[in-house]
Amino acid sequence: MIDLRSDTVTRPSDAMRERARDAEVGDDVYGEDPSVNELEARVADRLGCEAALYVPTGTMGNQIAARTHTERGQEVLVERESHIYRWELGGLAQHAALQTRTIDGGVRGVITPEAVREGYVKSDAHRPGTGLLTLENTHNARGGTALAPNTIDRTAKAAHELDVPVHLDGARLANAAVAHDVPIARMVEHVDSVMMCFSKGLGAPVGSALAGTAEFIERARRIRKLLGGGMRQAGVIAAPALHSLQNIERLSVDHENARLLARSLDELRGFSVRDPETNIVLIETDDPAEEFLDQCAEKGVLGGQFDEHLVRFCTHRDVDRNDIEAAIDRITEIA
Ligand SMILES: *Cc1c(COP(=O)(O)O)cnc(C)c1O
Repeated sequence: MIDLRSDTVTRPSDAMRERARDAEVGDDVYGEDPSVNELEARVADRLGCEAALYVPTGTMGNQIAARTHTERGQEVLVERESHIYRWELGGLAQHAALQTRTIDGGVRGVITPEAVREGYVKSDAHRPGTGLLTLENTHNARGGTALAPNTIDRTAKAAHELDVPVHLDGARLANAAVAHDVPIARMVEHVDSVMMCFSKGLGAPVGSALAGTAEFIERARRIRKLLGGGMRQAGVIAAPALHSLQNIERLSVDHENARLLARSLDELRGFSVRDPETNIVLIETDDPAEEFLDQCAEKGVLGGQFDEHLVRFCTHRDVDRNDIEAAIDRITEIA
């Protein structure tokens, strides 16, 4: 099977399994797990933030951030296709009692400073006020688009001028940094908090981190406990996550593979594929996506359905160039 459904399907490498086995551990709810503490310190340093918090999933990281930044009933500005809005079970309403105001970020999912000013609601006797702006980089549903650091800076500054804090959903932040060839910290200079996943392109079995100021993370730690995310000897999963930071640079290989796949499929009749910016390939299919994916599965290639005529293929460290070439051959036969 060539599994291109997601970059979350990677299996931990031998080195990661060894890290898990050998990890020094303690009770992290008491702050006594050395492996978790080391991971949090290293991630904070890497992101140029004061502090970080290890969380089991990206979803929990995003939800904790929203809750920590806001007050009940406030509005949150979200991109129309963003993960935090569309794919987290309405958690913004369920966990933080927030009302969402959507912004259409167009084909690349970019929220502009103008859109922030337009969407902003000032609190008064009748209106709840805007409590948070969320951004997403890379933007999953828009095809892994990698927003440039300047773009993030400008939009964040527009929010700050209105006293609105900014959370960045950076599940694939490392992919964005590699695509722009900048240190990962450069991507988040002007946001107030950021979540990044170790469990996606970086290949760790479990885990994400939330980062921000020390004061923010102190409050976030309480919300993590509230949501049931206080873990005990979590060093066994934090140690492979720490190891996964070594896999940042190699993401360029995934991006190269995605481009090869996209360009080859775009030449086939019945498919329209934009050049990917990172490791996510969105394919518009003339035939129903479900039918196409069934045919792919019969030939041992797995992808995900995003819409009636939209398929997502995702490259990752467990598929190499040979696998991609084999996938292209098999899909060419289908076409
Ligand atoms: C995967 C993803 C998340 C959530 O991460 P989980 O670990 O699956 O909960 C959040 N945001 C984006 C953009 C994602 O792609």
